[in-house]
Amino acid sequence: MIRIEKLHKSYPIGKDSLHVLKGIDLHIREGEFVSIMGSSGSGKSTLLNIVGLLDGHDDGNYYLNGQLIENLNEKKAAILRNKFLGFVFQSFNLISYKTALENVSLPLYYKGVSRKERLKTAMDYLDKVGLKDWANHLPNELSGGQKQRVAIARALVTKPKVVLADEPTGALDSTTTDSVMELLQEINDEGMTVFVITHEEEVAAQTNRIVRLKDGIIISDEKTVKLQKA
Ligand code: ADP
Ligand code: MG
Repeated sequence: MIRIEKLHKSYPIGKDSLHVLKGIDLHIREGEFVSIMGSSGSGKSTLLNIVGLLDGHDDGNYYLNGQLIENLNEKKAAILRNKFLGFVFQSFNLISYKTALENVSLPLYYKGVSRKERLKTAMDYLDKVGLKDWANHLPNELSGGQKQRVAIARALVTKPKVVLADEPTGALDSTTTDSVMELLQEINDEGMTVFVITHEEEVAAQTNRIVRLKDGIIISDEKTVKLQKA
């Protein structure tokens, strides 16, 4: 689903440049539930932004769903994002003056889906994340965990192949964190590839594979051993 070979990324800083990713090799198969761990500044978001076609890389190869990513302009990137990717962010990124239902239905508007179909599909996804009764509420009437559920419903509504989540639990308390991670696990159980960034060990432990990033390189890549829940 995602194949990265010898990937490099630098940012220009004045006349100098900051070499953030220094040769990343990573292969994520369809249906995996993977986390990227690393301390702040280790390059996690940089990597996720490249995977999410929000930013380009300098060197190396990136294949998304078998397609080599090169010479993308913003329009082509947007088409691929709409087709393959769903995004979840730490700060939820919901539109404050739109209801939960309208937020979830928005990506379908950009896909040209009719209003009736949009609202029906959006309601199905709100139901899926347990928020059917909150459909007509504004984001500021929802708790942090509820906001993130709305954001997850919005990420899923276009039926992406991969969900990319950058610190999805970063703004949540530990109980809410667990329930959001359980929701991501459910989504993964249904076959979705889920790629989560976190700097929290407990969050990474709830995924099936942990890739550790340090100083721009991968220092370990291991399957997690999960205890069966009673
Ligand atoms: P993480 O998500 O692991 O905390 P980031 O990928 O956000 O790390 O950042 C890695 C390094 O790159 C940091 O030193 C950060 O300051 C720098 N950086 C990130 N984005 C930019 C940018 N757009 N321009 C310049 N430097 C950046
Ligand atoms: Mg980050």
